[in-house]
Amino acid sequence: MYDLIIIGGGPAGVAAGVYAARKHLKTVLIAEEIGGQSVVSEGIENWIGSPRVHGGELAKLFRAHLDAVKGDIVTLALGERVSSLAKIEGAFKATVKNGDGYRAKAVLVATGAGRRKLDVPGAEKFENKGVTYCASCDGPLFSGMDVAVVGGGNAGFETALQLLAYAKSVTLIHRHEEFKADAVTVKKASAHPNMHLIRNAEPTEVMGEQFVTGMKYRDKDSGEVKELPVTGIFVEAGVIPNTDFAEGLVELDSIKRIKVDPHNQRTSVEGVWAAGDCTDELYHQNNIAAGDGVKALEDIYLWIKVQ
Ligand SMILES: Cc1cc2nc3c(=O)[nH]c(=O)nc-3n(C[C@H](O)[C@H](O)[C@H](O)COP(=O)(O)OP(=O)(O)OC[C@H]3O[C@@H](n4cnc5c(N)ncnc54)[C@H](O)[C@@H]3O)c2cc1C
Repeated sequence: MYDLIIIGGGPAGVAAGVYAARKHLKTVLIAEEIGGQSVVSEGIENWIGSPRVHGGELAKLFRAHLDAVKGDIVTLALGERVSSLAKIEGAFKATVKNGDGYRAKAVLVATGAGRRKLDVPGAEKFENKGVTYCASCDGPLFSGMDVAVVGGGNAGFETALQLLAYAKSVTLIHRHEEFKADAVTVKKASAHPNMHLIRNAEPTEVMGEQFVTGMKYRDKDSGEVKELPVTGIFVEAGVIPNTDFAEGLVELDSIKRIKVDPHNQRTSVEGVWAAGDCTDELYHQNNIAAGDGVKALEDIYLWIKVQ
């Protein structure tokens, strides 16, 4: 029986793991791997304290930090995927894929999310070679270039607004006539002279040689396939939170993110906290996820001590 189960090895889970070790909370950190989503990034330029760090290097630093502090307080259960989380006899049990179970008084869910991928020929081949899923990370690399944004929700328009600060032009492509984004955001972006909107159209192919050179899309009104010459394609087609195993235990929002109290990261169930991209947190960044993990841990520590 542990004090705490942390599920996830991204910045939220690792930050919580470091704090758990320092606070001597007997913890098991279960994760498929240490590092999280940005492990694939060629260069993270906003991780505070590092002007630029490769995602793989950041993952190594996370692991080194855990190894330096974990002692016999924090156990790492890596290469494991939690398949269910349940409340049993005054504690919580996390069951992993091979059937093993871990029990603890408290649980921190920090399992992040995956981006909904652009599912057309060429999209996977040119990922990180022009196709990207993070404007605040990669946007500045496209200064002075023509870029496209796929997705007409708030994330798509906010991405377009960010990109308009440095791109030569931004073309937003949306598969319906009406945009899902707030009218005020649409109006603000549309007013920019370098902003172009394509409605009722869907991408059909990413074109390129070594890097992206353009995107083909189908005009749904005419059926015609057209070409858009761009060197960057920012996909904002939504995220898929990794929360399946917690469904039925904690309250989720309409897109399956775990609802939390932003003051302390508590979920709807006493004894369960959540941090980072798996929550209904508005902004998704490494520093924010780490901060959420720390905030949760501070609250978990106090909660455990008064049990
Ligand atoms: C390509 C890319 C580049 C990015 N670049 C930047 C950047 O430059 N700067 C920035 O601030 N942000 C960047 N982001 C966003 C940033 O990576 C995320 O906001 C951050 O990783 C969220 O951290 P997290 O700990 O909440 O979750 P994640 O990083 O998603 O980590 C989730 C962890 O949980 C594990 N896990 C998931 N499900 C289970 C399960 N069922 N059982 C066990 N373990 C599980 C995963 O293996 C992983 O260890 C980028 C994102 C992407 C996709």
